[in-house]
Amino acid sequence: MSEQKRRGRLFVLAGPSGVGKGTLRAQALSDVENLTYSISCTTRKPRDGERDGVDYHFITRKEFEEKIAGGLFLEHAVVHGEHYGTLREDILRELESGRDVLLEIDVQGAQQIRALLPGSVLIFILPPSLEVLEERLRKRKTESEEKIGRRLEVAKKEMEQAKEYDHVVFNEVMERASEELRRIITRYGKEAQT
Ligand code: 5GP
Repeated sequence: MSEQKRRGRLFVLAGPSGVGKGTLRAQALSDVENLTYSISCTTRKPRDGERDGVDYHFITRKEFEEKIAGGLFLEHAVVHGEHYGTLREDILRELESGRDVLLEIDVQGAQQIRALLPGSVLIFILPPSLEVLEERLRKRKTESEEKIGRRLEVAKKEMEQAKEYDHVVFNEVMERASEELRRIITRYGKEAQT
């Protein structure tokens, strides 16, 4: 008897800027088997140390608009004044081949994914407090003061949406948050895809 191949599941990590999603994502990818990541497209400029095709596909506004027009994005959104989007084909190919996919995107994107792929698992990462988030954004030294202020304002609004997610993970101690995330993802791995 031929067993039907398992379809992969989509996991979405969302949460405010500076909450540590990037680190948690990297840790999950190294901890969990059969989990892959999709590289997003963005119109923002690379930060020091970021590489095209590794951290993001850094593209122009015109290229981004062409991809929107061509229906190439599964979801896309404007975040802090720049465009970000997930390429549809990459994700669907991985899911079809039975691999689970992890996305690290903003809350607008997460809402779009929930509507499109209801079997996805939405995970919200919360900071211990807004003060801690502010401190982390400052330490990161990637944004100007004005941008930090803007990101905190957006963060307050975003955090109100946490209750609508399937899971909420507090990122106070990175190792603990990471372990919780790993447990959530592997638990679903044992269930059939809905
Ligand atoms: P950053 O510029 O700090 O790398 O990312 C800013 C925000 O955009 C973060 O919240 C990040 O998760 C989100 N982001 C990154 N890629 C995507 C994407 O493909 N789609 C959406 N909707 N948001 C994204």
